Amino acid sequence: MSEATGDQPCVFCRIVDGEIPADVVHSDDDVVAFRDSSPKAEVHVLVVPRAHVTDVTDLVDDPALLAALVRTAGEVAEDFADGDFRLVFNTGAGAGQTVFHAHAHVLAGRGAAAVGL
Ligand code: AMP
Ligand code: ZN
Repeated sequence: MSEATGDQPCVFCRIVDGEIPADVVHSDDDVVAFRDSSPKAEVHVLVVPRAHVTDVTDLVDDPALLAALVRTAGEVAEDFADGDFRLVFNTGAGAGQTVFHAHAHVLAGRGAAAVGL
């Protein structure tokens, strides 16, 4: 489902819909995971719900979807690193959120512990 953010189409909706390319590492009925285009660690993957919601606080109303997102983050860390990972949700512009489609940053492997987002 695509949704506009102001006059701009939502970039993550466009990735979910396959309208713009991304390095997708996982896709299912609930979530899509793809590599961040500006990686800050050896493994830097974004996990997004297929449905457009603004930020992680919107997922409080859908705990199964939030669980799917966290489960996928763990699987990504197992598949591409040693299983250890950080999970970061920038929430609100003041906290550094730049894309207003909820997403979890999965940071793993070399550099993950030190990165600031
Ligand atoms: P945030 O600042 O928490 O909203 O994170 C947004 C992230 O999305 C940043 O780390 C960007 O590098 C990443 N990003 C933006 N556009 C794309 C894209 N088309 N494909 C992959 N990652 C993207
Ligand atoms: Zn969206």
